[in-house]
Amino acid sequence: MTPYRPQKIYIEKDACDYPVTKKITSRLAGVPFEVIDSVRPLIAELKSRPDPVAEGKRCLYLAKDRGRSFKPFPESKQYLSCDYYTLHLAEGCDMECSYCILQSYLTNPMLTVYVNLEETLASLGDFLDRHPEKFFRVGTGQLADSLSLDPILGHSEILVPFFAQRDNAVLELKTKSRCVENLFDLSSNGKTIVSWSMNSERVQKEEEHKCASIADRITAAGAVIKNSDHRVGFHFDPIIDYPGWEEEYGQVFDLLFRKIPEDRMAWISLGCLRFVKDLRPIILDRFPKSLLPLGEWITGMDGKMRYLKSRRIEIYRRAAEKIRRYAPRVTLYLSMETPEVWRHVFGGEHSKTSVCELLDTAAGKREIPEGLVHCPD
Ligand code: SF4
Repeated sequence: MTPYRPQKIYIEKDACDYPVTKKITSRLAGVPFEVIDSVRPLIAELKSRPDPVAEGKRCLYLAKDRGRSFKPFPESKQYLSCDYYTLHLAEGCDMECSYCILQSYLTNPMLTVYVNLEETLASLGDFLDRHPEKFFRVGTGQLADSLSLDPILGHSEILVPFFAQRDNAVLELKTKSRCVENLFDLSSNGKTIVSWSMNSERVQKEEEHKCASIADRITAAGAVIKNSDHRVGFHFDPIIDYPGWEEEYGQVFDLLFRKIPEDRMAWISLGCLRFVKDLRPIILDRFPKSLLPLGEWITGMDGKMRYLKSRRIEIYRRAAEKIRRYAPRVTLYLSMETPEVWRHVFGGEHSKTSVCELLDTAAGKREIPEGLVHCPD
């Protein structure tokens, strides 16, 4: 994984005077930059190129967010969601996963960073203060990787202290990088969870290009718990079904639990690969060696391509059984699955309310009651 360095920085006129802009341009000294009135002509020009996604990653666009940065994570009625909130401080990513939804989702291919972070956090602070009765789990990793650009952006230096002072919110920084050094000297007061998207070594090598290796992600997690009070999380998502998956994911569980103690883990999630139909031709075009679009798929109730339900249940049960052998009490949950799949994997009945209660508790809202630890049925 090589540090990101764009070929050119574009700065929106209104974004020039922010401290974050000055910090980023000084950390990227030597990279040419241009102040622009409008980004539209640039987007149009990029989209005329053969691979706008790859071209867009080479440009860094510094812009001003205009009040759209804090939102509930989009939910689908048929799948159990967890009332997660996203804080969009950047859009786009310097890494290259074949299955990345951003390839079809983002209309602006340029890697965009919103520089008016202080304003964004001031309004977020007001919002959290107006809702003291509710507990918010907030992530910055929906439209960007939370940490891969942190050596340049320094978001963690501002976000971790902000959330450390909040009674009713917790921050999750989700990454496939090993960029954790900025987190070491910050105290989170238990309000920051640093989490890694995980996969088998094979999937990482074949599908997650420019990302940290699995061993490096685990080493980075170990460094975080050694050098700070932050807890860590692991998202085995997307799990890919292929001959030998069980053994190879099992090898990762083995390495993970040898290096990271269960009591520093906030949660582990499991989610099988799913993708919107529009993504399939993009994967075939941009990653012709990827085997992902060639699997056996059904169209899920949210229109996304998924593995057959029976296969997903089997995968989750086997993965959960293995994880439970290493970590009997870690909070384990399924990502965007139906109540029926939850029931087949863990037994019992599950609802959005019970999932939120489970994750609020794991995030530190209160002590974990015995009945909330999910084991395979
Ligand atoms: S790390 Fe995440 S955001 Fe970046 S390319 Fe991979 S899937 Fe997309």
